[in-house]
Amino acid sequence: MEFRDVVKKFGDNTVLNDLNFTVAKGERVTLIGPSGSGKTTILRLVMTLEELTGGYVFVGGDPLQYEDRGGKRQRVPDKVRRRTTTQIGMVFQHFNLFPNMSVLENIIEAPLHVMGLSKAEAIPKAEALLEKVGMADKRDFNPSQLSGGQQQRVAIARALAMDPEVLLLDEVTSALDPELVGEVLTVLKDIAEETDISMLIVTHEMQFARDVSDRVMMFDEGRIVEEGAPEKIFSSPESQRTQDFLRAVL
Ligand code: ADP
Repeated sequence: MEFRDVVKKFGDNTVLNDLNFTVAKGERVTLIGPSGSGKTTILRLVMTLEELTGGYVFVGGDPLQYEDRGGKRQRVPDKVRRRTTTQIGMVFQHFNLFPNMSVLENIIEAPLHVMGLSKAEAIPKAEALLEKVGMADKRDFNPSQLSGGQQQRVAIARALAMDPEVLLLDEVTSALDPELVGEVLTVLKDIAEETDISMLIVTHEMQFARDVSDRVMMFDEGRIVEEGAPEKIFSSPESQRTQDFLRAVL
């Protein structure tokens, strides 16, 4: 995944200014930084939930929203964009499960209707994923019957059901009661260990960031202030802004 010269403005507010970074295949990168520094906007750009103001985002070498054709910046056709975005799974802060579907139906929805799997293919796969996130016994429940931690584990299984190349995690424990945070982070750590899915993570859980990340990027005002291995960023940050931020959150 590559951000090249990315600019994002909301009206006059420039949120990302000439942002460049790459996430290698299989790499886990965590974005940290104060609220409002542009972290969630980065994930939303990859999901094409926000429109790029300038620059390019590539996933697996394919441009997501705009491409450079004949020296001109042009929109990527919707069909091509959709094909690329199916390689990307996202887990949101507020789970966003389909409320009128069972747990199992939530998971097989996209495999059936986007990937074109048959039920005979999609259901066993969904059951295996539910097993992995410890939710096999809840397959016929409605999301409203589940705790926040359980709903989030279903949301993780749902994202994985599309065999994503890239998993985006947007503050996935921020809406949870403190006693439910651990079960979600444990599931994610297992997935990080067992798969080679690339991950771009926004989190306030610094220990989790330390455990799963290959690289941590500290953001402030839409710029990368400092980046490096988690041991370095958390134990001996160079930038004053990183030091101040970590002192405030740790
Ligand atoms: P973070 O995730 O680091 O807290 P965000 O990416 O959510 O930061 O927000 C970065 C900036 O973009 C903030 O100033 C926020 O107010 C602004 N912003 C985000 N989304 C919108 C939007 N839909 N409309 C206008 N401004 C927005």
